[in-house]
Amino acid sequence: MTPAFRLCVYCGSRPGADPAWAEQAAIVGHWIASHGGELIYGGGHNGLMGIVADAALQAGGRVVGIIPQALVDKEFAHRGCSELHIVQTMHERKRMMAERCDAFLALPGGIGTLEEFFEVWTWRQLGYHDKPIGLLNHRGYYDGLLQFLQQTVSSGFMGPWQMDLVQIDQTAQTLLKSLVQAAGLSRAVGLDQI
Ligand code: AMP
Repeated sequence: MTPAFRLCVYCGSRPGADPAWAEQAAIVGHWIASHGGELIYGGGHNGLMGIVADAALQAGGRVVGIIPQALVDKEFAHRGCSELHIVQTMHERKRMMAERCDAFLALPGGIGTLEEFFEVWTWRQLGYHDKPIGLLNHRGYYDGLLQFLQQTVSSGFMGPWQMDLVQIDQTAQTLLKSLVQAAGLSRAVGLDQI
């Protein structure tokens, strides 16, 4: 069956110091599955990546993992994925993830997460795609980054419209609904009936 929406999630290969971030990752996985969606992610079993995938699978959802061969052991490729694609390069992974989804969501994470998030954001500002992008700023994890990004605007290196290309929220459910809406998929997900 075709999924109601396909969400590409970028997040830490570690769980992070605050258990609240793991809780949010589990909420994201569960929400995707319970709304007929498909999770597309990096295919690892470590950290928030494993938590979001396990939550989606436990709730009966479809999970597509895409992992480069070199990281299969390092990130413990998740063998329980509905589809696990082992690709040759990081570029192939990122391209497949970006092509297959309707929207992007970055949860807390490290430089891998940041790199992926910034890449799809820069692609969006250049018009390479028009998919919604969300950033989950739960418990202020991204406060420092957002403050710096505002500084890039006030310093004249970025226009406010570029900031507006990213949806930022503190709670997963609100952000997920707003991403689905921005992707024009509320009806498919059944959100317009609420
Ligand atoms: P991290 O946020 O650093 O824990 O990494 C999260 C995910 O990003 C992991 O699946 C990493 O494999 C991936 N990652 C790490 N470096 C890069 C990179 N240069 N480009 C894209 N993804 C990366």
